[in-house]
Amino acid sequence: MLAVEHLHKSFATAQGPLQVLRGVDLTLARGSSLALMGESGSGKSTLLHLLAGLDRADSGRILIDGEPLDSRGEAALARWRREGIGLVFQQYNLISSLDVAANLAFQARLAGRHDPVWVKHLAARLGLADLLQRYPEQLSGGQQQRVAIGRALASRPMLLLADEPTGSLDEASSDEVLALLLQLVDEAGSSLLMVTHSQRLAARLQRRCILQLGRVQG
Ligand code: ADP
Ligand code: MG
Repeated sequence: MLAVEHLHKSFATAQGPLQVLRGVDLTLARGSSLALMGESGSGKSTLLHLLAGLDRADSGRILIDGEPLDSRGEAALARWRREGIGLVFQQYNLISSLDVAANLAFQARLAGRHDPVWVKHLAARLGLADLLQRYPEQLSGGQQQRVAIGRALASRPMLLLADEPTGSLDEASSDEVLALLLQLVDEAGSSLLMVTHSQRLAARLQRRCILQLGRVQG
């Protein structure tokens, strides 16, 4: 489903170009899960941004079902961002002016794929059924992250990109939220690429790899 071939990415800095990704290769089969580990600053978020179509690589290719992401043109790239992927960040990034119900439906509506039955199911599974009229500031961190997960999966994206999704939660909440995330990713039929610092959490995914010196190992 997803193949990354020899991806390079550098950033211009005052000290000259900073080579962050130096030939990243990885593959992810449809419906499978991969934990991406690596030291702080190793380029994990940079890689996720490239996969999300939020930034462009210097060289190398990202193939979705065999087709290069950047050969598709702006309209197709916008469609990939809107419909192909779901994003979950450490900071929940909910829309503070919208209640839980509207936050949950937000991305699926943008993608033209709002399915009220699926969203209702997501809300129930995520323990949000009684919180639908609340606003993000009226929720705990764990509850906010569940809304963010529900929002990202509401459109049944091909690929869920999660960047330290439980990084702001305590250990017990992290375990609980990850278990839910894995079940719902499965139900949605999505593939999962998740950045985590935790060996314990990474062990729950099907595969693990490490970003080191600009390349993916293992
Ligand atoms: P990680 O998510 O693994 O902690 P990042 O991908 O966020 O790492 O960052 C990798 C490196 O690239 C870091 O040294 C960071 O400072 C640098 N970096 C990230 N984004 C930019 C940017 N827009 N401009 C300059 N440097 C950046
Ligand atoms: Mg990061």
